Amino acid sequence: MTTAKRIDGKAKAEQLAKSITEQTTMLKDQHGIQPGLAVVIIGEDPASQVYVRNKKRRAESCGFLSVQHTLSATVSQDDVLKLIDDLNNDDAIHGILVQLPLPDHLDEQTITQAIVPSKDVDGFHFVNIGKLTAGHTADAFVPCTPAGCMLMIEDELGSDLSGKNAVVIGRSNIVGKPMASLLMQRNATVTIAHSRTPDLPGLVGRSDIVVAAIGRPNMVTGDWIKPGAVVIDVGINRVETTVDGETKSRLTGDVDYDSACKVASAVTPVPGGVGPMTITMLMFNTLRSARLSAGLAD
Ligand code: NAP
Repeated sequence: MTTAKRIDGKAKAEQLAKSITEQTTMLKDQHGIQPGLAVVIIGEDPASQVYVRNKKRRAESCGFLSVQHTLSATVSQDDVLKLIDDLNNDDAIHGILVQLPLPDHLDEQTITQAIVPSKDVDGFHFVNIGKLTAGHTADAFVPCTPAGCMLMIEDELGSDLSGKNAVVIGRSNIVGKPMASLLMQRNATVTIAHSRTPDLPGLVGRSDIVVAAIGRPNMVTGDWIKPGAVVIDVGINRVETTVDGETKSRLTGDVDYDSACKVASAVTPVPGGVGPMTITMLMFNTLRSARLSAGLAD
């Protein structure tokens, strides 16, 4: 029985944040530019409040200008678009992020597409999606979660994935599809699976790389996994367990970590895997935007 390596996303994120902080200091000292990140949060969703707080903390610790706009759940779409327009034209702001999900009366697509592509550090604008899909990533922003997953996969397998079969479970625009593009660019042979895919266990069993972005707790179990595979668990699921009559809630991934570890070569835990990397990649994209705005190379 093997025991897989636990991929420590938290440690990797800290290491990356340290380098971002150093580069930020250099950018300020040498060019007088401080990266600026504006986060827009609308309404009272408790999970969103936590995510935004963590992003703000991380931005500040990297030395960024960090601006938060908190709007009421009843704000009009015109007012949101006006704010985005102001931020698009604000030279101190290099990255704009609107925290999702939005209240029902707001149109997510209209709002995310209103952010100018050069400040779209979430990588959700169609221009950035198009550039990523076409392989023109030199001035594109790659969505933070798949970008972070890719760094962890490269740590395990190197940057050339020729000859590797990869399966991405989930076809969302923010995780599954960009993840597949990134893997394909590194020469992996990629299959995207979703809720209509037959024989998912068989497909996973032929894959050297498994990225699970489903939103179903512990769905991918060790008996599905090919021996030696690298398994990246994107899922964040809140589940309730009862211990000694007391109900507690905890976070779990889409992969059954313990059984996966008996077969795979490396697995990301939840929490402590993909999540911390996602926030740090947001800082990476914001720093990059600030550098690009000054005409500096990556
Ligand atoms: P999403 O938009 O709901 O997409 C889920 C995908 O899973 C869909 O493509 C869906 O297929 C597929 N799926 C659902 N049930 C399935 C099944 N039984 N078999 C195979 N595929 C199935 O979710 P998302 O935004 O991509 O997020 C996925 C998970 O990652 C969630 O738990 C989310 O919280 C988490 N997440 C984590 C981070 C992070 O930083 N760690 C970032 C983003 C998301 P269909 O398309 O056919 O419906």
